[in-house]
Amino acid sequence: MNNLNWYFPKTIKEATDLITKEKVLFHAGGTALLPRNLDKINGFINLSDLPLHYFKKENDTVEFGSMNTYANIVSKIYEIDSENILLKSLQTSADTPLRNRITIGGSIAFAPPWSDIIGALIVLDAKILLSGENNGDFPIEKFLQNPKLKQNSLVTGIKFNLSNWKSFSYRNIRTKKDMPAFHIVAMLKIENEIIQDSKIIITGTVNRFDKIIEVENYLKNRKIDDIEFSQIEKLVDVKFTGKRFSDPEYSQKLVGIELGRGIKKLVRNL
Ligand SMILES: Cc1cc2nc3c(=O)[nH]c(=O)nc-3n(C[C@H](O)[C@H](O)[C@H](O)COP(=O)(O)OP(=O)(O)OC[C@H]3O[C@@H](n4cnc5c(N)ncnc54)[C@H](O)[C@@H]3O)c2cc1C
Repeated sequence: MNNLNWYFPKTIKEATDLITKEKVLFHAGGTALLPRNLDKINGFINLSDLPLHYFKKENDTVEFGSMNTYANIVSKIYEIDSENILLKSLQTSADTPLRNRITIGGSIAFAPPWSDIIGALIVLDAKILLSGENNGDFPIEKFLQNPKLKQNSLVTGIKFNLSNWKSFSYRNIRTKKDMPAFHIVAMLKIENEIIQDSKIIITGTVNRFDKIIEVENYLKNRKIDDIEFSQIEKLVDVKFTGKRFSDPEYSQKLVGIELGRGIKKLVRNL
C-alpha cells in the first residue's frame, strides 16, 4: 500500500486547491472510504477543520454545511420542522454510531443506491452548494445526473425551503441495521381534504431514483375520500436489479404496496 499523506486544510480554497493534486480524495465521515482499495490513492484531504459544520435558517430557507452528520441534521430539523422529510428519512438510517459519522457532503458525492438522504433532497428540490472547479448552487437532480459537476469540486452545503406539505418515508429493510433495498419518500400538499399536489421518489431502483409521476397525476386534485389505495399500487412501475438483497419482482410488487400504505396512513392521520 502507498504511504498515505494527510492534508488538513483550514479554508475551502486550500481544500479545493489540494483536490487538483493527483490521486487524493476528500475525507469527510470516512464511512465509504474504509472498504475501498487504497492502493491507487496517495492521500486524503481531511475536511474536519473547514467551516462546514454550520446551520443557518433565514425565513423559510434552511442551509446546512456539508460536514453536518445525519445525527446533526435530525436534531436540528426536529427543533424547527418535525414534519420534515429529511428528519423522517434519516432518523432511523444505519445505526447511531454511523449517523454520528456519515456527513451530508460524503453522502451526496457518493450517493449509493441505499442512500437515505437522496430521495428526501429531491422531493425538497434541494440545491447543492459547490466550490472549486464548479462553483455555485445546483439542483440536486442536475448534480446527480452530471458527474462532471463532482470533478475537482467540494460539496460545501445544501439549501432548501421549509414547507407545510405532509410527508412520509419508508425504508425497506430486513433488520434494523440493514441498508435499505429501496427507500420511498413522498410529500403531499393537502388543502380542504383535497390533494393539491405531490412529489414521490423511490431510490434504490435500476435508474438510482425514479419519480412516480403516474401516482402524482392520479392524486392531483383528488379528494382524500376518493383515493383507491389499491389503484396506487398498480400505478407504480419501477425496476430493481436484484443483485442486492432480494428478488427484483418481489421488490417491484412490494414497493407499490408500501407506497399505497404510506399514502393511506398519511391522509388518514390528518
Ligand atoms: C455499514 C454501513 C451501513 C450504512 N448504511 C447506510 C444507510 O442505511 N443509509 C445511508 O444513507 N447511508 C448508509 N451508510 C453510509 C453510506 O454508505 C456512505 O458510507 C456515506 O454516505 C458516505 O458519507 P461520509 O461522510 O462517510 O463520506 P466519505 O466516506 O468521507 O466520502 C465518500 C466519498 O465522497 C467524497 N466526499 C466526501 N465529502 C465530500 C465533499 N464535501 N465534497 C465532495 N466530495 C466529498 C469522498 O472523497 C469519497 O469519494 C452506511 C455505511 C456503512 C459503512
